[in-house]
Amino acid sequence: MPTSCVIGLLWGDEGKGKIIDLFAAEADWVVRYAGGHNAGHTLVRDGERLVLHLVPSAILRPGVRNVIGNGVVVDPFHLRSEVLGLRERGVDVQLGQNLLVSEAAHVILPVHKALDAMAEERRGAAKIGTTGRGIGPAYADRASRCGVRVGDLLRPESLDASLQRLKSEKDALLEAWGGDPIDADALRRDLLEVGEFLAPAIADTGHLLREAHRSGARVLCEGAQGVLLDVDHGTYPFVTSSSASTGGVAGGTGLPPTALTQVRGVVKAYATRVGSGPFPTELRCDVAHRLREAGREYGSTTGRPRRVGWFDAVAVRYSAQLAGATEVVLTNLDVLSGFRPLQVCVAYDLGGDPERRSENFPAFELDRVRPVFREFQGFDGDLSSVREYSDLPAAARAYVEGLEELIGVPIRTVSVGPGRDQVIAR
Ligand code: GDP
Repeated sequence: MPTSCVIGLLWGDEGKGKIIDLFAAEADWVVRYAGGHNAGHTLVRDGERLVLHLVPSAILRPGVRNVIGNGVVVDPFHLRSEVLGLRERGVDVQLGQNLLVSEAAHVILPVHKALDAMAEERRGAAKIGTTGRGIGPAYADRASRCGVRVGDLLRPESLDASLQRLKSEKDALLEAWGGDPIDADALRRDLLEVGEFLAPAIADTGHLLREAHRSGARVLCEGAQGVLLDVDHGTYPFVTSSSASTGGVAGGTGLPPTALTQVRGVVKAYATRVGSGPFPTELRCDVAHRLREAGREYGSTTGRPRRVGWFDAVAVRYSAQLAGATEVVLTNLDVLSGFRPLQVCVAYDLGGDPERRSENFPAFELDRVRPVFREFQGFDGDLSSVREYSDLPAAARAYVEGLEELIGVPIRTVSVGPGRDQVIAR
């Protein structure tokens, strides 16, 4: 049975939530392997919009076991509110049944949030544009070996030792930056209390997933953020602090690297980015405004307006290769209706110099490349009810096929609206 991954091919917000929910119909387990509650995966159920931050995107699928893997950093207070919020909206979340959390996942604490805000403030104009939720500092503590893990919330003695270690590492920094020292007693009380709530869900999920894989269960790994935000392979330093690409799957789930046999890369028919960092095909003119409004490009976690631009085939080819994409899902094709002509970036002039034209994605000086565009004819009409590929306007098909050729990976699914059924299989 295949273990698959659904992953965003740019900087996040590619529409992964909907696509994971769609393919979860063929999964027994869905597991998040990286990131934290900075993710915002949107599902539309009977016309109602549901944004998930930490809970995996198959929570609406009966019978699927949703796992928050060890590679995710978990704010337990946020998780409790997200679970309660979903239940209030009629979603059947059963801890230990359809939702599990790895005991080895690291915990985001209030001190991480405070440090996130202070560090961003200190960066001034060079700020990374983090969501301010403590994700980066929690990953940093994981690497520095002074973190608290979800399993600690069930073990008071272990929690005490972890908190003492953290306090001795962090108080001096907090003092230097003008913050308050960690109140270990209050934190201990709050963590044990939230741990009691989460207890039924906390498990050795790596073991459970390996057993499931060995017995032939279908596991779908849910990417968060996107390949170009991967800490190693993304647009450093404007990246997230985890291995968001498929390289993070084994580390963040406990599955063996050989388990992964299918990778679906999700990408919009144009490009968007939230926060700072290079974005070669970014549009700043009136077209940008129209595209942002047509695609309702405002962050689902922060509400920030997203930066928008033309499709970047250089970047997507790179990320598809890096992630090992076996197929591509193209979302938001409907949004491009009425934009004429369409532009697609096919190469970069490095340093703005046409003599140094390259079709490869550079690790440095991405902010100084000039995109080389190929023009595609635009198309009109409402695509949102199209379900057969042959019913798309000829120019829309030519656009899809042109992108496919440039990326070098087959586009097997085209999405034409936010709803679960608004897809075209090719
Ligand atoms: P994710 O973080 O990758 O899950 O992406 P988001 O959920 O933040 O952003 C995707 C947005 O686009 C959400 O509002 C979706 O409901 C919406 N969406 C997904 N697919 C399509 C599509 O094909 N067309 C349109 N118009 N909207 C879509």
